[in-house]
Parts: sequence; structure tokens; C-alpha cells
Amino acid sequence: AGTLLLTGCSGGGAGGGNQSGAAGGDSEGVVKVGVSMPTQTSERWIADGDAVKEELEAAGHTVDLQFANDDIPTQTQQIDQMITNGAQVLVVAAIDGTALSSQLDAAGAAGIPVISYDRLIRDNENVDFYVSFDNYKVGVAQATALLSGLGITDADGDELSGRPTGPLNIELFAGSPDDNNAGFFFDGAMDTLKPYLDDGTLVVKSTQTDFDQVAILRWSQEGAQKRMEDLVTSTYGGGTVPLAGVLSPFDGLSRGIITALQNAGYGSTIADGLPVVTGQDAEVASVKLINEGVQQSTIFKDTRTLAAQAVKVVESIAAGEEPEANDTTTYDNGVKVVPSYLLPVETIYKDDIKSKLIDSGYYTQTEVEEGV
Ligand code: BGC
Repeated sequence: AGTLLLTGCSGGGAGGGNQSGAAGGDSEGVVKVGVSMPTQTSERWIADGDAVKEELEAAGHTVDLQFANDDIPTQTQQIDQMITNGAQVLVVAAIDGTALSSQLDAAGAAGIPVISYDRLIRDNENVDFYVSFDNYKVGVAQATALLSGLGITDADGDELSGRPTGPLNIELFAGSPDDNNAGFFFDGAMDTLKPYLDDGTLVVKSTQTDFDQVAILRWSQEGAQKRMEDLVTSTYGGGTVPLAGVLSPFDGLSRGIITALQNAGYGSTIADGLPVVTGQDAEVASVKLINEGVQQSTIFKDTRTLAAQAVKVVESIAAGEEPEANDTTTYDNGVKVVPSYLLPVETIYKDDIKSKLIDSGYYTQTEVEEGV
């Protein structure tokens, strides 16, 4: 433990020479930062990467930003290259949280601090800090959105009198099993749904309630569509058996699920019978669907605030200070509990699009209407 000190302070690149080392107390320390993001197929990661790069560069640091196409060997090679090129700090959002051991060993040996970005890197001691959102609460918020969409609770999760007592059929989806976040989302959601599963209000008709049965590798939209199609065939009489809602942990999955349900004849919008489907990330394609009454909700994780938090951590490290944590107990990566800074999330329903996404400048009205 203790304060993170930069030992790899040889500089290199454009910023070379002016990093005199945190140990020397240079609060103006300029560092070379390798930023490794998982993919460009989901817009949130592009926004994350761009925001981290812009803010670090604005603060005078040098940035090597890479995206890995959701391909593990690509990500490991990119990080190896960052280390070879003299990175002094690494900011990494892992594709597979357990697949970066040799890169982290190399970073540890070179004294390069590693910040785990949004997804916790597991099974290695050289993870110095974790910045993310409160992932358990994301799951709680997703389940609460589902319950409120079914008229069981209000948007705050308070039970409504005269609520339906069911049985209402639902199905569950979880994220990628190699992403540490996916289990947190699922646990938060299941803890919230449990009383209504226990009392028979909600029924998972397929009986698939274990994480391993419902997880979708690499958060694949096609994978989710395929699983929903299979469920429609196996459990819902090809679309003739009522289905009230689907817990979905990510907008990409949600759109695959919605396509499968629309094709099965459940209706094109919630108003004409489409089951309530949740989401995450406020992707613009899904915000458009929410605006049109097709997808019920999403969870907004403001990537601008996460990027800013990551930059603060880099700045603390560069100044030889201990980064500020607001959680030092939750995120055990299998080897150590990683000090974390967790940001809050917000649920977005149709009525929130203007106040929370447009007025804050995250999207324009036109982007919401066009979905791009
Ligand atoms: C992130 C989510 C995202 C998912 C798929 C998770 O690690 O926390 O925001 O929806 O990955 O990219």
C-alpha cells in the first residue's frame, strides 16, 4: 500500500524530460499515459477514450489511446506496446478482466501505476486504483426500472398499492462473464427482484435464473437477439404466450432483445404490447427508442465524469499524492481490495430525456430524434 510513486520516470516522447519523478515532489509532473479501451462498437467507450485523452492533453500530459476491437490479443499487444514506448501510467478498461496478467506484471516490474477504468482487472496485485460507477446500484436501478414499468413499484422502488400480483412472466439477461461488472449488475438486480420472484408476482418462465445461464459473452447484441429468439421458441410458443418484461443490462443487448420480440409479434411499442425492456449506457440508438416508447429505460453513466475522475487520479499520481478513494472495501480483485472511486448513476425514462440528456449537453434534440 502507501502512496503511489512513479518510478518509471525516464520520459520519452514529446513530453520527455520534464517528468522529474513524483518522489522528487514535482507537482507540475507531466506524464506519458497509455489509455487502453476495449472496443469502438459501443459509443460509450469511444466517448470514454476521447474524453480521457482530451482532458489529459489539456493538462499537458502525453496520451497514447488505443481501442482493441473486443479482441483480447489486440488489447494485450497494445498494452505491451504502451509499456515499450515508455508509458508512465496506464489507464485500462479490460475486455477480459483476467487476461492481462503478463501486462500487469510488466507494469509492476517497471513501476508503472495501473488505473483500472470502469471494469476491475482481476487476479493481479499491480492494480493501483479503480474508477467506476457504483455497479451494484446500476443493477438495483435496472431492476427498479423493470418493476416500475410493470406497475409494481414507482420509479423510486416504492411498492404501489393495487399493484399487479401476477404471475407476470419475465426473462433475465446478464452481461459478459469475463467482465467483473456483469456480476455486480446481476446481483444488484436479483436482490431487488427477489421479493417479487419469491411471492410469485414475477415468474422467470424459462427457469433460467443463474448468471451462467443468462450471461451474454462480450455483451453481443447478436448473442442477445439469438438467446431471446430461442426463448420465444422454447418457452413462449413462438410469441403467443404473454411476456411482461425483460431485464437487460446493456443497451446493445436491449436492442437485440427488442428486435427478437418485435419479430415474434409482441408489438412494435410498449403501448401496443411490446414487453418492458431495460438497458444501460444511454446509447443514442436506445435513447431514440426510449423517446419512441419502444425501449423502456436506460441507465445513464456520464462518461464525462468518469473520464474526469480518471484524470484526477492520474494527476494525483503524477504529483506523488495518494488518489482520493470513496470505497476501500468493495472491489476485491482476488488478490487485493483495490481502492476505488465510484460515481453515481441515473435512470432515464422517456420523460427524463430532455432534462437529463439534452439540457446537460450530452445529446442534441436532433441526435435523439435520429438515433445517431
Ligand atoms: C460497463 C457498461 C457497459 C458494458 C458493455 C460494462 O463494463 O460498465 O457500462 O454497458 O460494459 O460495454
